[in-house]
Formats: sequence, structure tokens, C-alpha cells
Amino acid sequence: MSERTDQQVRYDQARYVEDGHYEPLLAEKDLTSAEIDGDDTDSPLPDDLTRDDLELPALSEPELARHYTRLSQMIYAIDTGPYPLGSCTMKYNPKFMEDVAALPTAAVHPDRSERSTQGTLELMYRLQDYLGRIGGMDAVTLQPPAGAAGEFVGIRVAVAYHEHNGESHRNEVIIPESAHGTNFATAALGGYDVVSLPSDDGGRVDLEALEAALSENTAALMLTNPNTLGLFERDIAEIAEMVHDVGGLLYYDGANLNALLGRARPGDMGFDVMHYNVHKTFATPHGGGGPGAGPVGVVDELAPFLPSPRVREADDAESDADEPTYELFDPEQTIGKVHGFQGNWLVLVKTFAYIARLGDEGLTDASAKAVLNANYLASQIDYEVPYGPFHHEFVASAGDQDAADVAKRMLDFGVHPPTTKWPEIVPEALMTEPTEVESKATLDRLAAAFNAVAAEDDETLESAPERTTARRIDQTSAARSPRLAWQALDDE
Ligand SMILES: *Cc1c(COP(=O)(O)O)cnc(C)c1O
Repeated sequence: MSERTDQQVRYDQARYVEDGHYEPLLAEKDLTSAEIDGDDTDSPLPDDLTRDDLELPALSEPELARHYTRLSQMIYAIDTGPYPLGSCTMKYNPKFMEDVAALPTAAVHPDRSERSTQGTLELMYRLQDYLGRIGGMDAVTLQPPAGAAGEFVGIRVAVAYHEHNGESHRNEVIIPESAHGTNFATAALGGYDVVSLPSDDGGRVDLEALEAALSENTAALMLTNPNTLGLFERDIAEIAEMVHDVGGLLYYDGANLNALLGRARPGDMGFDVMHYNVHKTFATPHGGGGPGAGPVGVVDELAPFLPSPRVREADDAESDADEPTYELFDPEQTIGKVHGFQGNWLVLVKTFAYIARLGDEGLTDASAKAVLNANYLASQIDYEVPYGPFHHEFVASAGDQDAADVAKRMLDFGVHPPTTKWPEIVPEALMTEPTEVESKATLDRLAAAFNAVAAEDDETLESAPERTTARRIDQTSAARSPRLAWQALDDE
């Protein structure tokens, strides 16, 4: 790191005057290197792994405490307000789940013996069972670390299944054009050609187009239900029959399971394989890339191909009380491991805690409120909602406004914006999912923000946001050439 420059001091002062909320990085505050006490000859480490001087900002405790507190105040989070990011299901995460995950007994080293980790294995066993019953699936793996990773597992399982049946010629996966981008990426990674399926006028799967797309080359159809417009695919039983008739598998993208909890099950609709985005449906802090977990459920015929290990009751568990009750095992034709050890373990602990706390009634209540909240919010906003009736989320259109500008302007009203510009069937899409946790008062506040923005002119929208610490940022540069380490302004 370089010396603090005059230019930089002036820059900081200007920002402070202009905006009392600005908080410089620690390195921008004071680059005096701190003297580290002690004699490095004491170190048991090799010389090339030790250093004599370490540049640390020399700050007092109050300066440090204020720095981090101020940074935390610059962030918009689910703990500070509503977060209606459609498809992502950003629900408030109950704190008791954190307490459970923080129990010392929850953090067992994954290399310990089965005998000494029976509690861990029991939790996994019971979670496999919960998820299987919620999704209507016969067998579940907890390994994949995200929904997208779950999709990858599901598609690898489909590849293994078709190969096993001598049907390796199947090379196509059909995906509705409104699907999440990960579905297309998953099919391509699995080595399949993607056949894109248009929607009908009502925003659902077009059965005639499906009929035309299906063939002896169909490996699978990937679908989410309700779909990304929040619409229930009413013809799902017929769709399943059509796909099965040509020997294809039906894959369920579980990201929208929040709408169905306790009411309908993908397995009963005819799906053969599905992933659960447990961080969405069952709540775990997510965003910014994780952490999450994407367990995969399958019907019996696909169970032998699941990743290893899974957990089962040990054969001799009942005959001998001294023997362990639960054991890890490799499914017979497993596609192998897709993650270290047991997957994103603490996320699974939180999932288990959430399901166990809510129970059947709580989960059923969650889906009812998720749907009610979406319908109430949609009825209160001035933007048009072209497709319906919808479930836990809806896609409004920003009309003549640019959806990205609408999103930025909503930040000025102290709420997080919806997902924008996707799915593309709705022009300038505002994909909105309030989730079951918000009260009527919060939904009214959200609606007020939508409606204030709906009434504004382009000039205001194009310069938004005005009230956030970071203003109109250059998102393209931020994504394409991110600055991952601090640089003095002089170095640029
Ligand atoms: C979020 C999402 C995914 C991907 O899940 P991750 O857990 O983010 O990897 C897939 N499909 C849909 C519809 C989603 O909303």
C-alpha cells in the first residue's frame, strides 16, 4: 500500500462535506503502518512465511467500531426492509435458525467416525425424509450446494439413467423460454442440446409446441410450477404424460416451491426429479452468491444414480442396541460426489430447524400467506400485471419506463426493488415476490414506493438513485472489471 496522498485527503474531505454518509475504506483512513511487537526469531515458521512489518491502519477502537457500524448502515438487507426480488424468495430468516446452527454440537468435524456422529447422521436422515415427503419424492441427496448445482446433479442423473437403459442417443432437453437462465446452462453442461419452448398466449406451456418438440431424442423437460410468471401450469398432468410417453424425464425446478408447500407436490404432478432451493423455500440468508443448498429428490427408478454419500438406517440397527443406527452409503450406480463431505452442512441444519419448527401446519400457512401477499400487493400497484391469476409472485410491466431505472428509483424510497427485465415475455418486467413474512403495513409501504415511481418522469428516473450512499454506479464496469483490492487514486 502506498502513502496517503494529498489528493486523497482532499477527495475524502470533499466526500464528507458533500455526503455525510460516505464512509472511506480503512485503508483510505490512515495508512500509518502499525509496529508489530515481538521478535520474529521466536516464530516456529520458516523465514519465508513470516514478515517483520505489517501495514495495518492505526485506528482507535471507537474509529474501528464506527467504521463497521457505518458500513452496516449503508447496506440494504432483509433485516432492514422488504426485499421483493421475484424468483429469489428473499424472506426474513428467523434468528432461532442461527442459534441452532451455532450450537457447538452442530459443528462436528466431517471426518469423525460414524459411530461418534450419529446425531449428525440422524439429522441428515430426517431431513432427507422431510424433503422427500414435501416434494413427493422417493429418495433425496443433500449434497448439492445450490439450486443450480442441484440442477446439474438432476441432469447428470438423467444422463446416467438414459445410458443405463441403452438410450444414450437422447440428446435434447426441452426448456420453456421463460425459464431461469441456470436451466439452459445446466442442460448445456450436461452435454445436451437445448430445445426452447415458446409460451402460449396465457403465459403457460404451449401444448402444441411441446408436442412438436418431443421426440425419441428427448432426454428431459425442465419446468418450474408455478412458472416464472407465478402461473400454475394447469395442464401439468397432461404434460407429464406426453413427456413420459416418449421416454423422457420430467425435471422440476424447485425455486417456486414456496407457493405449493403443504398443498401440492411435484411428485404427485408426475415429476421424476427435482431440486429444492432450501435457502429460498425454507429461509437461509442468501444473495451475494450464497451460501445455499440444493438437495435433489428423485423417484425410485433414479435413486441408484444419486450422488454419494446418502444416509440410511443401518441394517442391524434394531437387533443390537450398541450398533450405530444411521450410516452413510453409496448408491449402487452413483454419479459420484458433487461436494466435499455432507454438502453445505450448516445450511442443512437451518433447513431442518425451519421445517421442524413450522411443521405441517406452519408450512401450509406459509404458502397461503405467500400467495395472499403477492395478490394483495399486485392489486395495490399502478403498474399493469399482464398475466394471471398468479400464485406467490407476479410480473408487472414498467410500460414506457425502463425497468432498471424504476428499480434504482425505488431505492430512494427506502425499499428494495423487484427483479427486473426477466422473464422477457413481459416488456420491462418487474418480477415481484413479497413472500409470506411481510405485514399488510409493509406491503402498503412497498405499494406506495411502486406508485410514487410510476408517476415520475424519465429525467428523474435516469438520475436515480439520489438518496443512497453510492449513486448511479456503472454496473457494466463493476461487473466486467471489478476492483477487488484497494488502490490509491494515484495508482490508477
Ligand atoms: C434461484 C433460481 C435457480 C437457481 O438456484 P440457486 O440456488 O440460486 O443456484 C433456478 N431456477 C429458478 C427459477 C430460480 O429462481
